[in-house]
Amino acid sequence: MIIILQPHATPQSVEYRQLMDYLTNRPNIQTRVHQEVGALQTLTEIYLIGDTASLDQAEIEHQPGVERVVRVSEDYRILGCHQDDRRPTGFDYNGVLFSQNTLNVFAGLCAVDIPAHVEQMLKALRDNGQVCTRMGAYKPRTNPYSFQGHGKACLPWVFELAGKYGIKVIAMEIAHDSHLDEIREALEKTGKPTGVMLQIGTRNTQNFELLKIVGRQREFPVLLKRGFGITLEESLNAAEYLASAGNRNVVFGLRGMKTNMGDPHRNFVDFAQVPVVKRLTRMPVCIDPSHSVGTRERAPDGLLDVMHVTAQGVVAGANMILVDFHPHPTKALVDGPQALTLAELPWFLEDVAIARAAYEKRRLLAEREARKSDK
Ligand code: PEP
Ligand code: MN
Repeated sequence: MIIILQPHATPQSVEYRQLMDYLTNRPNIQTRVHQEVGALQTLTEIYLIGDTASLDQAEIEHQPGVERVVRVSEDYRILGCHQDDRRPTGFDYNGVLFSQNTLNVFAGLCAVDIPAHVEQMLKALRDNGQVCTRMGAYKPRTNPYSFQGHGKACLPWVFELAGKYGIKVIAMEIAHDSHLDEIREALEKTGKPTGVMLQIGTRNTQNFELLKIVGRQREFPVLLKRGFGITLEESLNAAEYLASAGNRNVVFGLRGMKTNMGDPHRNFVDFAQVPVVKRLTRMPVCIDPSHSVGTRERAPDGLLDVMHVTAQGVVAGANMILVDFHPHPTKALVDGPQALTLAELPWFLEDVAIARAAYEKRRLLAEREARKSDK
């Protein structure tokens, strides 16, 4: 059960203390308080854990300072979408809005290599009106002898270049809590020219200790990739680990599943589940067409498979696209074969806009039909 307080009922208020006294007198109930500090007001929520079935929802709703009470199911208590749940989806980070209604493109290098390539990429993004990118500094690789990413050495110049080209958010995978410290330190040293969305890769989806550490900080939002060999439910629970530790600014990423049934794509594309994740949770949903498809193969209609699956995800309502580009794919140190070129960037963005417009039209049509059946 979640008690959502009125804006003035902060932990310093009389109402809050009275409510806490009331709750402490209920048997077998523990409370956990969560505060979201916004520009205009602070939202305080009290999570009740334990024998909540014995609580009288109406009685709690009548306590002073209480705005609403939401009875949550066992699953995904914080990130889930519960009955009569009117809490907003999404969040703002560094001036960019992430929600179940928005769409942000994160095109960029799978792995940072040399400054010239990073700069060419960022310039192309700026010239095409983009403010987000992906840049991998820490690369978990299957083969221990493969390039592991430049790590902390590249962070200062990547952040400075991002600031130079007006990039507000960089999606960057971390695989260890030391990476989080290194990112924080490099941002501080360079005067925070940009922002970072921490990415938890598919190999770490169930690294619970990492999730707890990343969840305990609220400075950076998190992109959690679905685990490539586990159920959707298991991956959504992994996202809930982040929220239960304190950080609910989480985007959920679909990136394809490991099964030979998906051949000849690198992974079996799972973007049909975009609407499912949006129904079950309040998280914005990201698609990663590059790691799903894994090649630059082109269909007979002239479209790259990467573009086809991107459109499929966007037409289904995806809110974020993480996609590999490279100025010279043959020189990329990681995943060159799946990277699109800078010349293809305007085409890709136009193709995304077409799919998004189709999605908007479909949504309006569904609204019209819902109104009809309400009458
Ligand atoms: C990536 O986005 O660079 C990546 C390695 O993705 P995943 O964790 O989905 O394989
Ligand atoms: Mn990659």
